[in-house]
Amino acid sequence: MTLIDVDGLDVHYGDLQVLWDVSLSIREDDSIVSIVGPNGAGKTTLLKTLSGVLTPTAGRVEVLGQDVTRVPASDIVERGFVQVSEERNLFGDLSVEANLRMGSFTKRETFERNRDRVFEMFPVLEDRRDKKARTLSGGEQQMLAIGRGLMAEPEVLALDEPSNALAPQLAEQVFETIEEISDDVTVVLVEQHVDRALALADRGYLLENGRIETEGTGAELLESDAIKEGYLRG
Ligand code: ATP
Repeated sequence: MTLIDVDGLDVHYGDLQVLWDVSLSIREDDSIVSIVGPNGAGKTTLLKTLSGVLTPTAGRVEVLGQDVTRVPASDIVERGFVQVSEERNLFGDLSVEANLRMGSFTKRETFERNRDRVFEMFPVLEDRRDKKARTLSGGEQQMLAIGRGLMAEPEVLALDEPSNALAPQLAEQVFETIEEISDDVTVVLVEQHVDRALALADRGYLLENGRIETEGTGAELLESDAIKEGYLRG
């Protein structure tokens, strides 16, 4: 089944067109789909359009077979698509557990079960459950942001540069976490670490100047000239 189907998206900020005729699909049998490309290519804009934060000027977004192109963001969460933004947007003065509760607004009845699952996945969050979110390290905050996203029981979890601003060892931990959660949920991964993101991915898309330039399996993209010449060093 197709979880997300995007067809012919154009997105503008005022008069400035940022996405041009973008089409892609995320399928149930995908574990991780990576979207890579340079700064300013439009990756964040694409995620924001999928999650209903931005409305496209042309094209269509379907989640689980239903048109959500003009559906508000909170309803899209309910339909199974959750985006964890690059800024993480945690509630710094609230506890770890309270932040998880904020993620479960569409699934209050299963809060405890989902929280326990998140604690199982990220034991460090259970250790810190009563601590304010702002006292966590960068890596722990990223794990909390991912955990909070999982509280809504999404079919698809989109992560916008989860390794951003993390030291290499912590970034590696986050990549291992992503691989683990992809057993439960399909992950859309936007990353600057192109080699790592494509090595993890079943499939990937290269977005340049607001257009999909190349697509293929993670392995095919890693071998492609477009990726080798533009994004891989050494
Ligand atoms: P990065 O990796 O730097 O986050 P990106 O691929 O996610 O890059 P976007 O953040 O989607 O790219 O930005 C795409 C283009 O849209 C850029 O030229 C950016 O300057 C522009 N842009 C982004 N947000 C806005 C906004 N709110 N208003 C106007 N232009 C914007």
